[in-house]
Amino acid sequence: MPLFEDTPAERAFRLALRKFIAKEFTPYREEWDRNRAVPREAWLKLGRQGYLCPYLPKEYGGSNLNFRYVVIMLQELTAGDAMCIGVTNHNDNSTRYIYHHGSEELKKRLLPKCVTGEAIACFAMTEPGAGSDAAAITTKAVRQGDHYILNGSKCFITNGMFADIMIVMCRVESPDVDPKKNYSLLCVEGESLKHIRRHQFEKMGRHGQDTAEIFFENCPVPVGNLLGKEGEGFKYIMEALGRERLELCIKAQVYADECLKEAIEYAKVREAFGKPIGKFEHIAFVLAEVATEVEIGNTFLHACVEEFIRGEDITKRVSMAKAWIPEMCNRVAYKAVQIFGGYGYMAEYRIARLYQDVRVTPIFGGTTEIMNLVIARQLGFKPIF
Ligand SMILES: Cc1cc2nc3c(=O)[nH]c(=O)nc-3n(C[C@H](O)[C@H](O)[C@H](O)COP(=O)(O)OP(=O)(O)OC[C@H]3O[C@@H](n4cnc5c(N)ncnc54)[C@H](O)[C@@H]3O)c2cc1C
Repeated sequence: MPLFEDTPAERAFRLALRKFIAKEFTPYREEWDRNRAVPREAWLKLGRQGYLCPYLPKEYGGSNLNFRYVVIMLQELTAGDAMCIGVTNHNDNSTRYIYHHGSEELKKRLLPKCVTGEAIACFAMTEPGAGSDAAAITTKAVRQGDHYILNGSKCFITNGMFADIMIVMCRVESPDVDPKKNYSLLCVEGESLKHIRRHQFEKMGRHGQDTAEIFFENCPVPVGNLLGKEGEGFKYIMEALGRERLELCIKAQVYADECLKEAIEYAKVREAFGKPIGKFEHIAFVLAEVATEVEIGNTFLHACVEEFIRGEDITKRVSMAKAWIPEMCNRVAYKAVQIFGGYGYMAEYRIARLYQDVRVTPIFGGTTEIMNLVIARQLGFKPIF
């Protein structure tokens, strides 16, 4: 279901990407899931086609593409079952912090490698004891001469196993910064990576996409790798949050659409009691209800995307979208599996994979509960955190 009508150039970009995914990604998804890893060559192929960090200006190797192309990429990667590769975390999350807040030296040195796929980036904020309550992070950086010494650990980090560049949220101990507001972003890369340990999580779904726990043990990070200013890390994250949540909703919406399509096709061909199951009123009505939910999600999302492109403040509405669309997507996936019956439970069926993959959508990027807190605040209530 389109979120907007493509221009001819956008349509050409969409079709080329769709073809690329069908050839280079979809056939390997199961193998990558089994290996719990996507080979670096897949990243390099994406880079060669210009699909890594296309938002970057040409001087850093990018194509200067606007947000509509980000939407197209999210839609096509999700629909093409290519979410096993953490490309959206790389493109739309991690590298943007370098672009917006890194020094010119850092940008010139690192961003072109992010465009080619030579360097994979991750964003590390969550800790074992601090997820929704991000302000409770304890990973600490202490300045010693021309380095920060970083200690602590991060968990659930997408791309964390293979990342060459880590954007790490930490607390910088400095006499110049209020200890209550000392959240800062460090770009950990190069020699610093010799001082970290990584552990890969085994997940419920998205097996090919690596998710890691990362330990920093007296890890030296050059002071030039501070992104922006000490004590401003949270501000930078808040500035990006609306877009990031919108992007998560776009993916969840596509998942819902894909589950619906799968269920409709199956209901047409699967026979029971001598006729296609779609001819039973109950099944047809379930599909009608699901289709309505998917349509409502799409309509609301379309409005949010338009508002974002116009530069409006989407905090309240994108929180509503993030609270509703991933939950809707899970309802749809659940009902679609039910329509598939036993086959829906079989791993070789796409619907079973979709069902597993969508479960995380109301959890990461701010849980449904936290979104409701944000909405409630916008309504003038102050729920207790
Ligand atoms: C596959 C995956 C990939 C991820 N990728 C990344 C990544 O790349 N980088 C990164 O930094 N993080 C990442 N995360 C972490 C993710 O953002 C967190 O899991 C999420 O923010 C929730 O934090 P938590 O898991 O600690 O849950 P908790 O904060 O412990 O929450 C547990 C439950 O309590 C609820 N809860 C918490 N506080 C409140 C409250 N005040 N009121 C009501 N309910 C509340 C939550 O909604 C949830 O239901 C990823 C997670 C997963 C699963």
